[in-house]
Amino acid sequence: MSHATKATAFNKDEAKVNWHDKALWYVREKRDKSAHKVQGWEHLRQLGSSIKANVLSNLDDYLIQFEANAKKNGIHVHWASNAEEHNTIVNAILEKHNAKKVVKSKSMLTEECHLNPFLEAKGIEVIDTDLGERIVQLAEEPPSHIVLPAIHKTKEEVDVLFQKHLGTKPSQRNPEYLVSEARKHLRDKFIKADVAITGVNFAVADTGGVIVCTNEGNADMGVHLAKAHIACMGIEKIIPQEKHLGVFLRLLARSATGQPITTYSSHFNKPENGKEMHIVIVDNGRTEQLSRPDFRASLHCIRCGACMNTCPIYRRSGGHSYDYTIPGPIGSIFSPGKDLKKLAKNHLAM
Ligand code: SF4
Repeated sequence: MSHATKATAFNKDEAKVNWHDKALWYVREKRDKSAHKVQGWEHLRQLGSSIKANVLSNLDDYLIQFEANAKKNGIHVHWASNAEEHNTIVNAILEKHNAKKVVKSKSMLTEECHLNPFLEAKGIEVIDTDLGERIVQLAEEPPSHIVLPAIHKTKEEVDVLFQKHLGTKPSQRNPEYLVSEARKHLRDKFIKADVAITGVNFAVADTGGVIVCTNEGNADMGVHLAKAHIACMGIEKIIPQEKHLGVFLRLLARSATGQPITTYSSHFNKPENGKEMHIVIVDNGRTEQLSRPDFRASLHCIRCGACMNTCPIYRRSGGHSYDYTIPGPIGSIFSPGKDLKKLAKNHLAM
C-alpha cells in the first residue's frame, strides 16, 4: 500500500493528527533549546559527521579491530550478512542455553530483521522491555517512531490495552498508575528471563566494548539478571576510539529529546563472571548502501529521530504510513536503498 493511502487512513482522525503533530513538534523545540545551550553545537555536529565519514572509509579495518578486541575481552563475535543469518545465529545461541524466555531492550536492528516473529514461531517468549516498545508489542503493531515507538497511542488507548493484557483497572486518566503497573509486569519478566538481547548505539573499535543508551535502565536490568547477553549491531555502529563517545553521546540525547544525556549510557565490555556475552554484527544491505554515492551519507545516521520530529509530512501522516522499519525522512532514504525496483512505484521519495 502506498504512503499516500496509509497517510489518508491516519488522517481520518483529525484530532489525533493534530495531537501527534503538536507532540512531536514539542520534542523538536526541546531539542532546539537544548542544542542552543551548547557552545559550538554546529561544530560538534560536523565533528560527529567527520568521524562517521572516517569510519565508513575504513570500515573493514575498524570492524576487524573491534572483533579482535571484543574476543580478547571474552566476548563471542558472530557475523551475519542478512536478516535470516542474524535470526539463525540468535536462535542458535538461545538453543545452546535452552532459553525459552527472552527480554529485549530497544533495537531497531532486530525490528528490521523481524526477530520477534522468527523466535515466537519457535516457541520462545520475547518481551520488549522499553515501555513504548512493550505497548506496541501488546497492540501487535510495529514501532511508529525510532525513539518514541508508541507516540501514535493516546493514554486512553494504552489504558484499554493494559486492561486487556495486564488486567489493570481503569486508570481514570492517571498515567502514573499505568507506568507503575507496567513496571510490575516487566519486573516479573526480567526475573524469569533466560537471555537478554540488546541493541547497540556505539561499538568502540579500540576497546571491543559496546554502549547501549536507554532512559529506563531496561538494558542493564535484563543483562544483569539473565545468564547470557546477545548484543545485535549494524556494521555502521562502529566508532574508532572511546574518546569519540563524548561527541556522539552529547549529540544523541539532545537531538532526540532535548535531554543533555540519556539516563543510562551503559558500557558492556566483557561478560560477567560465569555468564556469556555475544555480539552479532549485521550487514543486511548496508555494504550495498555504502557503495552507492547518493546513499552513503545515510550511514552517518545515529538514530536520534530528530528528522522525524522536524518533518511535517511525518508528523501529519504517522510512522506506520511508511513502508520500512525506520520511518520518516531517513527511512525514506534507507528504504529505497534496500530494493530500488520494488519501491520505485509507491515510495514517498521516488
Ligand atoms: S538522519 Fe534523522 S535519525 Fe538519523 S541522525 Fe539525522 S536526524 Fe537523527
